Amino acid sequence: MIAIFDGHNDALTREDHARLASGRDGGHLDLPRMRAGGMRGGIFALFTPSPGEEEHEGRPFGGPGGFVEPLAEPVAHEVAAADATAAAGRLLALERAGELTVARRIEDVDAALAEGASPVAVLHLEGAEAIDPGLEALPAWHAMGLRSLGPVWSRANAFATGVQFAMPSSPDIGPGLTDAGVALVKACAELGIVVDLSHLNEKGFWDVARLEAGPLVASHSGAHAVAEASRNLTDAQLDAIGESDGLVGIVYATAFVRPDFADDADTPLSVIADHARYVADRIGARHVALGSDFDGATIPAPLGDVAGLPKLLDALRAVGFTEPELEAVAWSNWRRVLAAWWH
Ligand code: ZN
Repeated sequence: MIAIFDGHNDALTREDHARLASGRDGGHLDLPRMRAGGMRGGIFALFTPSPGEEEHEGRPFGGPGGFVEPLAEPVAHEVAAADATAAAGRLLALERAGELTVARRIEDVDAALAEGASPVAVLHLEGAEAIDPGLEALPAWHAMGLRSLGPVWSRANAFATGVQFAMPSSPDIGPGLTDAGVALVKACAELGIVVDLSHLNEKGFWDVARLEAGPLVASHSGAHAVAEASRNLTDAQLDAIGESDGLVGIVYATAFVRPDFADDADTPLSVIADHARYVADRIGARHVALGSDFDGATIPAPLGDVAGLPKLLDALRAVGFTEPELEAVAWSNWRRVLAAWWH
C-alpha cells in the first residue's frame, strides 16, 4: 500500500474530536480509518470559526454555477488564542496516549513509514489570529510543536487578508501582507515553520514569494485554469511554486474543484485527478501533492473518507501518473518541502 501524507484536515476542531483515536461515526478522518486508507501522516489544522458561525468550512456553499460569499468576520486574538491552545492540547494528548507522533523534526515524518509505526501529525494554524501581532507568542507555539502556519483563513487579520469564497473569481481580491505579516513570514522561516499560502489572496501570495523565505506551499488548493475559484492558483502562481521547488496539495473540496462549483458529493474522482494532472503538466509531478480538506468540506462520495484514498490513487493512475510519481505525490514531495522549511 502506498503511504500517504495529507496536507490538510480539520478533524481536530470537529465536535466529536474526542473520538479521533477510537473512531467516529461519520466525518472523514480518524485513526482507524487513516490506517485503512494508508494515510501515515498529515497536517492537522487548528481553526477558530468567525463569530456567529458555529460550523466552519464544512457548511454548504451557494453553487452550482457560481456564488460570492462575503469575507468572513475577523476573530479577536484573545478568542483564537484560547481556542487554538485547547485544540493543540488535543493533539498533544493523543501523542501522550501513544496514538500518534507530533512532528518536530523531519526524522519524525520518516519514522512514520516504518512497519507498525504510529502515524505522524504536523500541527498547523489555519489563520494566525492565535499569534499576537508582535509575535511574542510564536516561539511558544513552536515549542508546543507548531510546524506549519497559514497567515490567514478566508478573512482579514493583523497579518494579511484571505480570499473570500467567490466562484468564478480571480484570487486577486484585497490587499497584501501587512508589516506584521512580513515579520511573521520571516519569523516562521527563522524558527522552521512552514508558511502555507492556501486561503491567502493573490497580492499576499506574491508578497510572500518576494521574501524567498522557503519553498512556496499551498496545502489545499486547486488549479484556477481547471476551476475558476478564488481559492485556486493561477498559472503564474503555479509557475512560482514550481520555481521555488514548492508544492500544491490538491484539495478535494467539490465547490473548488468542480468547474461548475457545485458543492455536491455526487462528483467523480476524475475531477480531483484533473487538477493534479494539470499542475503536473504545467510544473511537474514533483510539485503535486495531496491536501484533502477532510472534515472541512464536501468531498466526492466515491472517495467517502480517508479510508477511500486508494481509490483516489487509482484515479491518478488513470490520468497517467506513474508509480514513482504516485509515491512522490503521496509522500515524498511533502517530505521534501517540510524538510526545507524545518532546516
Ligand atoms: Zn481551509
